Amino acid sequence: MVKWENKIAKIALPTPFAVGDVNVYVVKGDALTLIDTGVKTKESKEVLAYKLGELGLKIGDIEQIILTHHHPDHAGGLDFFDRGVPVYGHKNNQRWLELSDEFIHMHNQFFLEYGGKCGLTEELKDKLIRTREEKRFLSNRKLAGFLAEGDELPGLPGWKAIETLGHAQSHLSFYRESDGVLIGGDHLIAKVSPNPIMEPPLLPNGERPKPLLQHNESLRKLLHLPISKVYSGHGEEVEEVKELIHFRLTRQHDRAMHVKKMLEEKPLTVFEVCKQLFPKIYSKEVDLTMWETVGQLDYLEDLGEIQSETQSGLTLFSIA
Ligand SMILES: [Zn+2]
Repeated sequence: MVKWENKIAKIALPTPFAVGDVNVYVVKGDALTLIDTGVKTKESKEVLAYKLGELGLKIGDIEQIILTHHHPDHAGGLDFFDRGVPVYGHKNNQRWLELSDEFIHMHNQFFLEYGGKCGLTEELKDKLIRTREEKRFLSNRKLAGFLAEGDELPGLPGWKAIETLGHAQSHLSFYRESDGVLIGGDHLIAKVSPNPIMEPPLLPNGERPKPLLQHNESLRKLLHLPISKVYSGHGEEVEEVKELIHFRLTRQHDRAMHVKKMLEEKPLTVFEVCKQLFPKIYSKEVDLTMWETVGQLDYLEDLGEIQSETQSGLTLFSIA
């Protein structure tokens, strides 16, 4: 049974993805707000309607939507809502919500070229280009307004946006200063570490993002806030916030050191490291395993432990 807890009601919605259910949150304020929407499937919409009903609400009662990030399990269900319902989020959501031909072209070009540098086979490069497949889970929508670091949330006095980039280039968390509650999307999840998913550069011909480095920085940022509880995008709430952050950062460092050992043997491409790290699943989960690998290499390079050199379109990593 869905219930209110300090003006927040958590609703778990089914997704067709391996991650399982996604949590969306109804928040009471000047405007009745939904944080994230769930995925765009019939089943998800039915469960949303049913669970809102347990609060005495209907889908049509939601007055505004605020997004933690653009991924289909969080933003896909925007189509369930009337066009007049304003949607707010980080400006970097927009390119994914619009999914213009120009962006798809740029996206595919980037992944073909970058996949080549990483040493991927043609077949696996194709697999990386998943935008079109995901399209059926996305909704086409324009944001009514952009939220940036420190902004007060529209219709929710006392709530602030905190930029928590890493898992997505559009990722925000929402913090209520009065009681230290954070709605954290996929930034901090009790059971799993979110994947540092690669995205095309934000500016034409710009540098690619370094999602794991961003994610670590966004985790450290939370250490400075008195957070009482994190309502996550998946699974249970997190109350031992600092402990979990330290645990995640240490685990990730250890994993990077394991990768460094591989490079002590001989220089390797991203794909070669990926195959050693994930021998059983790399071909099935090429994107997630590759981005995890890129993350560890970015981390080691940032520490000055390794270096990279690109020759004839192929990048090799070696001990510095
Ligand atoms: Zn996500």
